[in-house]
Amino acid sequence: MLKSVILDIIANISVLTTASYIFVKLIPKKKSFELTIKELLLMIGIAGLTSFMLMLFAIDLPDKVLLDLRHIILILWIYYFGNKFTLPLVLLMSMLRFLIGVNHVSIRTAIVYLLLGLFLPIIRNKLIKYVNNEYRVLVILNGICVSVVAVHLYFLYYDLLLIIFIYIPFLILSSFVVIMVTAFIEDLLKTRSLYLNEQEHAQMDYLTGLYNMRKFNKKWQIIQLDKKIETTALMMIDIDYFKWINDNYGHADGNFILRQLATILKVEAPDSELVYRIGGEEFCLILNNFPFVKQQQLAEKIRMSVAEQSFLLENGNSIQITISIGFAASVKNKDMKKLFRLADRCLYMAKNQGRNKVIGKMLENE
Ligand code: GH3
Ligand code: MG
Ligand code: MG
Repeated sequence: MLKSVILDIIANISVLTTASYIFVKLIPKKKSFELTIKELLLMIGIAGLTSFMLMLFAIDLPDKVLLDLRHIILILWIYYFGNKFTLPLVLLMSMLRFLIGVNHVSIRTAIVYLLLGLFLPIIRNKLIKYVNNEYRVLVILNGICVSVVAVHLYFLYYDLLLIIFIYIPFLILSSFVVIMVTAFIEDLLKTRSLYLNEQEHAQMDYLTGLYNMRKFNKKWQIIQLDKKIETTALMMIDIDYFKWINDNYGHADGNFILRQLATILKVEAPDSELVYRIGGEEFCLILNNFPFVKQQQLAEKIRMSVAEQSFLLENGNSIQITISIGFAASVKNKDMKKLFRLADRCLYMAKNQGRNKVIGKMLENE
């Protein structure tokens, strides 16, 4: 008897940790993510399945009562997702419980779970506000669930001593499991967040805070596959005589100018996320779904605002600089290599024609 109880407990813990691992892995690897309905439904499915597996390893009590750690699925769900889809999850858990047996106990359990599904999200919101520790919040939620289950069992057995005998070890064990699973999930989430931070850093240019060539290449692959983006243009921007600026004012002032130019480009670009520093003093802008005339106007506007702007030096003086722009636009052909080559050629022509110039061409006319 004791051996089978211990085996059931071990099975419950293993199922819970495995399910938690799957859950964290299912979260999209993005900094700010919104789960889609499809992803949420998949998660509900897995949560339901996990609760069913836990029932299979439940400890059998008199009157066909199943005692297991199913409620931990519910409190983890509520802690991490709030009341998003909590009721469908509760309904699914109750229905799966009916698969094992429809009797007055499973019906009462369904009602208990429905009430927990309704009220626990409200309690969770209050707890998160006042208790600044995920472990404490989850242990309190667990305490509430276990107490509700104990009351439910009391009205079944009417034996206070038996209930206390079940309640205390159940409370201690489930609190321990909640702490363990939470530590496991939090560790996975921390690793995930570290990974995302590192990934973000690897795609950033430390000097200007713009994205770098690595991110630029990634973005191009996405654009090429994105059916909503019908036309795209690549604008290549290069500072004129930057070597001379560096030689005359020093490398530190050169860096300072690069940072100021980056700010101008971010302000002028229709989408500040699509501005890249792709080389020493070379920048790139991507323009999606813009007509050719608008692209030309924008390139001209950027060239002019740089020419009119006073760039500060570290000693407080200011200088004027100019940029040359080459841009390549596509109508249908979103071939990155060809666009890049054409934009580079246009930039070279702008330099050859005296600098402080914009030259743009359509890829299809080439
Ligand atoms: P052009 O008008 O033909 O573009 O002339 P240029 O002098 O700007 O062109 P070139 O490519 O010969 O020089 C680019 C210079 O940019 C060379 C290098 O000293 C400078 N540079 C590259 N990266 C950095 C950087 O991170 N900081 C600073 N301060 N200078 C840089
Ligand atoms: Mg250059
Ligand atoms: Mg240059």
